[in-house]
Amino acid sequence: MDMSALLELQNVTIRFGGLTAVDGVDMKIDRGTIRALIGPNGAGKSTIFNIVTGIYSPTAGRVLFNGQEITGLPPHVITKKGIARTFQNIRLFGKMTVLDNVKIGQHCRSSCDFLSAVTGFFNPKVKKEEKEIEERSLEALELMELADKRYEYAQSLSYGEQRRLEIARALATKPSLLLLDEPAAGMNPQEKQTLMKMIRKIQDMGLTIFLVEHDMKFVMNLSDRIAVLDYGRKIAAGSPEEVQKNPDVIAAYLGKDVD
Ligand code: ADP
Ligand code: MG
Repeated sequence: MDMSALLELQNVTIRFGGLTAVDGVDMKIDRGTIRALIGPNGAGKSTIFNIVTGIYSPTAGRVLFNGQEITGLPPHVITKKGIARTFQNIRLFGKMTVLDNVKIGQHCRSSCDFLSAVTGFFNPKVKKEEKEIEERSLEALELMELADKRYEYAQSLSYGEQRRLEIARALATKPSLLLLDEPAAGMNPQEKQTLMKMIRKIQDMGLTIFLVEHDMKFVMNLSDRIAVLDYGRKIAAGSPEEVQKNPDVIAAYLGKDVD
């Protein structure tokens, strides 16, 4: 077993009816690195994220995290093991505060059940947990430079800030692997620049990052290695330089409508 790989996909395949959305994909992501997954729309990128985070169970193949099989485990268990993600589309509660949006992402991490929630007001253990959730949330907001907006409504943030808020929510669960699904989509160049800086900062803290993104400049600048998906198959992998001049990759992109 290769212990340097934090996440490993072995022959991962998923079929939806007649469609093979992910087809025999192998991948190894080393600790502390930034890995990008690129490919035309519909290639299966988000589906791979859904498999890694337990939303879908693959039809075949295995997912290993820290050398341990996690294939088909439920999402909350996978979160507890240290995998967090953001989604392609913003999923925030607009009329809740920035801070509460982050806190809500951690419920699967606390041992708080219904009874202790009801009796929690008097329970020192629950109070302690609540305090820890608050601290982790503030730390994550600080990292994404949103701490001073913590009492504002999420909907009052700019678009770029809302996307960063989602990353903060993921970070507050204290992951070792962070999955980002098109984090720069819809951002202006300045927002992208800020986001890039923050992703590097997250990497410097020791996290491993698995990134799906269409913006090639963003991907090429940030990634240590890149895997390319087309019709569910991995058609190329390597350093940004290698992938950029790979003829299969160029062909896959030329034939299709991408941003
Ligand atoms: P990408 O993120 O690369 O744009 P997706 O992973 O979202 O692509 O989708 C890959 C393919 O799988 C698409 O053809 C999509 O329609 C299909 N797909 C994804 N999820 C489902 C599902 N739950 N049921 C049926 N088809 C799905
Ligand atoms: Mg997608």
